[in-house]
Amino acid sequence: MPAIHRYLLGLNERASEAFVAAESARARHRARHPTPLAAVKCMDGRVLFPQLTGTPVGLVQPFRAIGGRPEVFWPSFMGRLRHWVESARAGGHRCVLFLTYHYSASDPHLGCAGFDYDTGSARAHAYELARDLGWVFGEQLEPIVCGIETDLDRLILHGTSGEVDGGALVGATEAEIEASLLGAFPSMDPQIRGDLVPLVAGNAARVRALSAHPKPATERSHHERVIAVGQGFDWLHEANLALIINDADPDLAHAIRVASRILAKNMESAPAGDDAALVSCIPYHEPGIDRRQAVARSLGLLELARRVMREVSPALLDSGRLHAMAGVLFSPARRFERIEEDLRARRMTFAP
Ligand SMILES: [Zn+2]
Repeated sequence: MPAIHRYLLGLNERASEAFVAAESARARHRARHPTPLAAVKCMDGRVLFPQLTGTPVGLVQPFRAIGGRPEVFWPSFMGRLRHWVESARAGGHRCVLFLTYHYSASDPHLGCAGFDYDTGSARAHAYELARDLGWVFGEQLEPIVCGIETDLDRLILHGTSGEVDGGALVGATEAEIEASLLGAFPSMDPQIRGDLVPLVAGNAARVRALSAHPKPATERSHHERVIAVGQGFDWLHEANLALIINDADPDLAHAIRVASRILAKNMESAPAGDDAALVSCIPYHEPGIDRRQAVARSLGLLELARRVMREVSPALLDSGRLHAMAGVLFSPARRFERIEEDLRARRMTFAP
């Protein structure tokens, strides 16, 4: 097995352990702060809510896509979102969706590659999506446009009359944070406002920690080694390791092309012993997805990704440095299961 696959499987094993270990912490947090939280995030691995907010792993449900660009007309994205919104509603709760964009205060090229480092257009997209989803789901959903400054991991929540900035609230009391939320979001449901306080407080603590001990320069730059296609990639949450592409994107080939170019560029400057990986994954044990369906989808996605990469980055594909792996994810434990080559041969024949 290629070293990078062993590395990734080890990463998943540790992440799965951490996810399972955080189960009680998540349950306690949800008992005190029941508002379901989700985030639309960029693919490039800089936006990690557990780190940003000091909340239990798995608390904020991620919807990832290249550049964080999902559109309201994407059928699969809206299907998943609707499912999430409806289960919140059935539990008697409104829900919060963060529409995130990210940038670096020190260097524009540490910003979002998916938006060609154009923070203005990334933010405009987040606003557009917030408006569209707000219209679709009405008062059931609170869409919040959210900027993330990645040097200090500052979280900035854009309200209707101002903003709540984790960086400006270092050392603030819970009452001061709640007042800041009330100022920026005067018409927000009080339950939601109260449930956002721990996230902002956690972010202020994160900013304080990073101000004292800044991230090393290598951690701040793009050095992704993995293209991940499909869903269920929370375990790849090691910053900047993976370019994650959600298969909800109806223009999947375009997303793979963009990611291929970024990976090919990264590999040009990578040390000789460094390899790259292409990974596909579909979670199962979720509503509407059983294991065989997940296996079939994951194998199909891997083939599609290979085909698209062949068009844009043939040199990378032929370099012998890119290792492909298909898998499925056992959702309740976030455990990645590699699909063995022999299963592909026996069960799944794609050849004509
Ligand atoms: Zn990005």
